[in-house]
Amino acid sequence: MPPIARRGLALVVSAPSGAGKTTLCHRLLNAEPDIVLSVSVTTRPARAGEQDGVDYVYLSQDEFQEMRAAGDLLEWARVFENYYGTPRQPVEERLSQGKDVLFDIDWQGAQQLSEKLTQDLVRVFILPPSANVLKDRLKRRGLDSPEVVSTRLSRASDEISHWAQYDYVIVNESLDISADQLRAILVAERARRERRIGLARFVRELQGDL
Ligand code: 5GP
Repeated sequence: MPPIARRGLALVVSAPSGAGKTTLCHRLLNAEPDIVLSVSVTTRPARAGEQDGVDYVYLSQDEFQEMRAAGDLLEWARVFENYYGTPRQPVEERLSQGKDVLFDIDWQGAQQLSEKLTQDLVRVFILPPSANVLKDRLKRRGLDSPEVVSTRLSRASDEISHWAQYDYVIVNESLDISADQLRAILVAERARRERRIGLARFVRELQGDL
């Protein structure tokens, strides 16, 4: 039986820095090969271990502003001192083929996508289980200077204040449980009737054969 046609969905995951979002996104990508990550462009320098074209595409300020001015970004935001944006073309191409895209972006990006992708958007917010856990995770990460860590803590509070603009909220106490929850959200959202544009035909044929 050929698969029943459906619209692609855009799964947005946002969280304060240190809540475990990137790990959860990678777990989802490993578990579900049919969803791909939207690789953002950014003006921030690559961190140790990050790969150009995989984690981000790293651009100069001028290159970023050129993309933005040309309308090549589906959404963009300034986060800390840097610019981040979602290249438009790969996302629109995948969604139009009925395929799914995962976005690891902040609340500003989620808000812009809500206006552009409307019913194709599913928004998930990840919360840390407590303030202490968040603080520990930010310190243990050890990738940034103490000043950056303290800025991140105050920005974490800002990011958290947008939790109610999301469809689902996961409190990340256990990575295993949270990864299961994120996957369950994707699986359930894929089954929504209104996304499954091939259902009417499928049911017609089903009834025709009865
Ligand atoms: P980081 O520098 O730690 O990788 O990311 C900082 C923040 O920027 C995170 O909350 C991340 O989700 C967000 N971010 C990454 N890419 C994009 C993007 O393309 N658009 C928006 N709006 N936010 C992004």
